[in-house]
Amino acid sequence: MAIYNFAAGPAMLPKAVMERAQAEFTNYQNCGSGIMELSHRGKLFQPVIDRAEANVRELLNISDDYAVLFIQGGASLQFAMLAMNLLNGGVADYVDTGVWSAKAAKEAAMFGTVNLVASSKATKYDHIPAQSEWKRSENAAYLHITSNNTVAGTQYQVLPKPTAGVPMIADMSSDIMSRVFDINDFGMIYAGAQKNLGPSGVALVVIRKDLAARTDESKVPTMLRYSTYIDNGSMFNTPPTFAIYMLALITDWLKGIGGVAAIEKINNEKAAILYDFLDNSTFFKSPVAKADRSRMNVVFRTPSDELDAAFVKEAKENGLTDLKGHRLVGGCRASIYNAMPIEGVKALVEFMKKFELANK
Ligand SMILES: *Cc1c(COP(=O)(O)O)cnc(C)c1O
Repeated sequence: MAIYNFAAGPAMLPKAVMERAQAEFTNYQNCGSGIMELSHRGKLFQPVIDRAEANVRELLNISDDYAVLFIQGGASLQFAMLAMNLLNGGVADYVDTGVWSAKAAKEAAMFGTVNLVASSKATKYDHIPAQSEWKRSENAAYLHITSNNTVAGTQYQVLPKPTAGVPMIADMSSDIMSRVFDINDFGMIYAGAQKNLGPSGVALVVIRKDLAARTDESKVPTMLRYSTYIDNGSMFNTPPTFAIYMLALITDWLKGIGGVAAIEKINNEKAAILYDFLDNSTFFKSPVAKADRSRMNVVFRTPSDELDAAFVKEAKENGLTDLKGHRLVGGCRASIYNAMPIEGVKALVEFMKKFELANK
């Protein structure tokens, strides 16, 4: 039986990538050792991190105005790190569209004033507040958004455009490289790797070099300054070599299948299959505003908590794993990142049909 893993992160990786990593695992390029056993300063690792960076630049069309960095501590460290480097006692605008946005704002508040420009918390983050209603401050150091809300299952279908003089920063952890966007609209983007880019252990940060130069070096510890990573090719200290190697393989794979535009088409097809089914079901329901539905994390419910639990359990017995909703919101969630093949989504919908018939 084929197993399809719908986990939200760490999430499934493309089978071809897992097999390549397996083939190279103990003997990388016939050197007799695995990549994770090799010095990050050695001649075999440098080309790996260089390729990871070059792939990211190519896939996201990133110019030399930006630095591409690999940093440990996940997206969660970036919540604090970006504020330590870019806020410095000023005001920052945050859009509160989910638990991750709220965590980002909470960290930033330690380093300046956070202005919540809008929030959908009162309705359990079931939508993205309309940009026409955002109450932005004057002279914000930056505007922070979360492009895809992994827990609530919402996503900006159209990313905001920046306003003059205010860099836009996005947490793209759960939809990076899933759709085309213009990096030049952003001062910085960041993403924990474990949804769309590889295993956990590294965060990808893309930051405009002039912004990274704003850091007050007398106040920010060396390891928490973007400039340290820029000046040292992300290797001031030992980087997470295996996670970076996997990110290189994933981005090789994505380039091989046609890049971000090609995967976006597939992602749109996958999401449409699931949402079309949900829209026509009288049993399963999506709690999310139609206009803001995520193409990465599809959140849904049966008529009761008991049936939600039974669904998750029986789905697992049928090879469809990790469909339980986030512990904060309950229900069910199918995470269908880049690595999820369309067959997995079709298999899920077939099972949902059967479950609906048997339990209605
Ligand atoms: C998973 C996730 C995070 C947290 O990532 P870590 O790497 O575990 O810190 C932050 N933001 C979003 C949108 C996420 O999906």
